[in-house]
Amino acid sequence: MKLPVGILGATGAVGQRFIQLLENHPWFEVTEVAASDRSAGKTYAEACTWRLPGAPPEAVARLTVQTTDGPFRSRLLFSGLDSSVAGEVESALAAKDHAVVSNSRNHRMDADVPLLIPEVNSEHLEAVAVQQRRTGGGYIITNPNCSVVGLALALAPLHKAFGLASVHVVTLQALSGAGYPGVSSMDVADNVVPYIGGGEEEKIESEPRKILGGFANGAFVPAPFGISASVHRVAVSDGHTMAAFVRLVQPVSAADAMEALASFRGEPQERSLPTAPARPIHVLKGNDRPQPRLDRDRENGMAVSVGRVRADRDGGLKLEALVHNTIRGAAGAAILNGELLRARGLLA
Ligand code: NAP
Repeated sequence: MKLPVGILGATGAVGQRFIQLLENHPWFEVTEVAASDRSAGKTYAEACTWRLPGAPPEAVARLTVQTTDGPFRSRLLFSGLDSSVAGEVESALAAKDHAVVSNSRNHRMDADVPLLIPEVNSEHLEAVAVQQRRTGGGYIITNPNCSVVGLALALAPLHKAFGLASVHVVTLQALSGAGYPGVSSMDVADNVVPYIGGGEEEKIESEPRKILGGFANGAFVPAPFGISASVHRVAVSDGHTMAAFVRLVQPVSAADAMEALASFRGEPQERSLPTAPARPIHVLKGNDRPQPRLDRDRENGMAVSVGRVRADRDGGLKLEALVHNTIRGAAGAAILNGELLRARGLLA
């Protein structure tokens, strides 16, 4: 028996990825879809302008879009809601006993909400019990900002083995990260825009510290290193690239850093979760990799590619990381979180 799931914000860029990635999922079946009043009452096929290759699955195309008021029969709800509404809607649904797995920024830094990358900080799921004391049974799990998923995955093995002292990162972020219609073509064609709104730099500077930190005595303890970020929107369809400059507590050679990255595995690999990549980090040797067009789809978009790992001054490292922003950076990340919840018995 597959577990019925609902998609909030099902008509948006992330919502469509959920629908696409959950087609033929071995554990989950999309039985409910919700969006704004503009879409409610229409079939999914009528309400949604499908912008991924092909067409939405027949069974989902026939579903009637609901408002986010519900009621929903599914315990597990994946959210790709616009952040202007996600905060209140997700809290209300957690209060009604749902497990809400969200992409939106609203609850990521809450004191009892895990900001989860299953390979990196699955022990943060201990916070669910703390949250349930507040809500009575439902809870919210969040996945990080789309750039942060790639950055935190690339930093995790280095932090674990050698300790991070500081990180500087420059991002080159794809157009799909802005949703549809996103950035005007007049702004982005033949151009690079050195700004992304919505507090993008602040998210990249704060979220990895929560993810790479601990959970002790009922509270998150941020990792003790600083991050500086400078973000750019570039004319790439999918795939965020990041150039990172890393200082470590314990100096390390590029070869040892690459070994730590390539051998990194976590709970999703141990449990063989359906969406888990066999190798979460692909270390690429070519001088001109990773590249979005060539590397974003590794392991169905769930692997982060890291290349050009090289020594920097003061015993530091320079590297390039690439993440598929709407798969590993959004819907795929949330689905992996949902799979871990099920494997841990948190959806019973
Ligand atoms: P999007 O394409 O604009 O889709 C937004 C969705 O929210 C649509 O389904 C829309 O429904 C719904 N919505 C808007 N206003 C609503 C309201 N008042 N009540 C109920 N539903 C409402 O945005 P997106 O790019 O998919 O992003 C969705 C969320 O994921 C955002 O919080 C974003 O920050 C986050 N995120 C995005 C990415 C990415 O790469 N795009 C990555 C990570 C996280 P209608 O179609 O009916 O308007």
